[in-house]
Amino acid sequence: MTSFHNLVHGEWIAGTSELPNINPSDTSDVIGLYAQADASQTEAAIAAARTAFPAWSRSTPQQRFDLLDAVGSEILARKDEIGRLLSREEGKTLPEGIGETVRAAMIFKFFAGEALRCGGEVVPSVRPGVGVEVFRQPLGVVGLIAPWNFPIAIPAWKIAPALAFGNCVVFKPAELVPGCGWTLADILHRCGVPKGVFNLVMGSGQVVGSGLVNSPQVDAISFTGSVATGRRIIAACAGRGAKVQAEMGGKNPLVVLDDADLGIAVNAAVQSAYFSTGQRCTASSRIIVTEKIHDRFVTAVIDKLSGLKIDHALKAGTDIGPVVDQHQLAGNLKYIGIARAEGGTVAFGGEPLQREKQGFYQMPALITETTPAMRINREEVFGPIASVVCAKDYDEALFIANDTEFGLASGICTTSLKHATHFKQHAEAGMVMVNLPTAGVDYHVPFGGRKGSSYGSREQGTYAREFYTTVKTAYTAAG
Ligand code: NAD
Repeated sequence: MTSFHNLVHGEWIAGTSELPNINPSDTSDVIGLYAQADASQTEAAIAAARTAFPAWSRSTPQQRFDLLDAVGSEILARKDEIGRLLSREEGKTLPEGIGETVRAAMIFKFFAGEALRCGGEVVPSVRPGVGVEVFRQPLGVVGLIAPWNFPIAIPAWKIAPALAFGNCVVFKPAELVPGCGWTLADILHRCGVPKGVFNLVMGSGQVVGSGLVNSPQVDAISFTGSVATGRRIIAACAGRGAKVQAEMGGKNPLVVLDDADLGIAVNAAVQSAYFSTGQRCTASSRIIVTEKIHDRFVTAVIDKLSGLKIDHALKAGTDIGPVVDQHQLAGNLKYIGIARAEGGTVAFGGEPLQREKQGFYQMPALITETTPAMRINREEVFGPIASVVCAKDYDEALFIANDTEFGLASGICTTSLKHATHFKQHAEAGMVMVNLPTAGVDYHVPFGGRKGSSYGSREQGTYAREFYTTVKTAYTAAG
């Protein structure tokens, strides 16, 4: 069994213990043993990043472009192999794993360009004989903490902008999916990232994660994960004055109006609620359907779900892979029970499934006859489960869509330009989709939400610069 080590100051070092990386499609398949760091190894990685910062902050945009471009090229060249590893450790299907890998490559390419575009401004002063310049500088050492559901894309959209703008990085992948994080670290190392500029520290949230969050040597934290962890991290960072960005949960609505194209609506609902096993922060978990199309829509969704193949993530033809682990599967089943107890009808699926290999398989579930107050419509489940709420008209559907503490993505299916335009303006979410699934976004534009879903500035696209740089205003006497 291969052991995979942490990368600290350019050296691969063993952790104080190891954790097996288990394939959720086949629990007898152990991918490898991954290092678990303790507090002192975390501190060593932070110190390495601190030491490397002065030189890296003065590196040329060309050096940073070359590194990120090379990393993007290698990921792209190895997309099938890395996509396979991703599917093997996370459980999304092979095409989804390869797709996510290509996305990660494109993110590195995009931020290679951003390293060149980090320009400043020269502004006329209000005073005579004074020149004013406004420019951006890196923050210093950034701690990057990732969740398990996008094992390569989320690390990429944190690491690439952090390095592009001259920061040094300590990266902690999620415990369940260290394989893609380790592969990224290996690629960065072999592409010549200078010692200490990028450090990989695998380990637990309690030890490594909180070590990063609470270290006075870490200038900023970018976190993606659950609301509970995110809120703790925001409070800890605020307490010591560190910059923080947190992308957290969602309870994303998809509104289907009477005038919707039924095929488009069913496809949007099934794609965004169930693909990637529903384990996407942008998944539509609440489907709000107006009265006249309700029954036809529910029948058509059930028909589509009946034809899906739920099986091993690497098997050709699988539409939906397993749930990520036993804990997540138990949580999904618990929520189906709660929905039933609160008066919902399990109109399709929900039950655990046996397949050829022992894994965490579950039939996608559609729950109907639900009301907005039920827990299934208020709390994030993060599995292949969607509930249907019937609304009388557009106004009521919009109200229900916005009646949530979350605000990541929000979608509508309609042929009415009036309603689509109104919805784009009034949906309380960071991302709005019209006649498209709520999950599945571009890599070159801002990503993030409002309300309880997000805190701090947006990730991705040119907006990433807001987080990974600070602004300096310089005044010079013209002489
Ligand atoms: P999680 O909060 O359990 O863990 C996320 C990361 O935080 C992991 O690396 C974990 O080890 C670390 N962590 C845990 N405790 C910590 C602590 N005390 N201090 C510092 N770090 C700590 O989340 P998860 O289960 O890995 O991911 C699923 C969640 O992520 C869902 O809620 C989902 O909606 C959310 N998510 C959000 C987005 C988004 O962009 N909004 C994207 C993907 C996933």
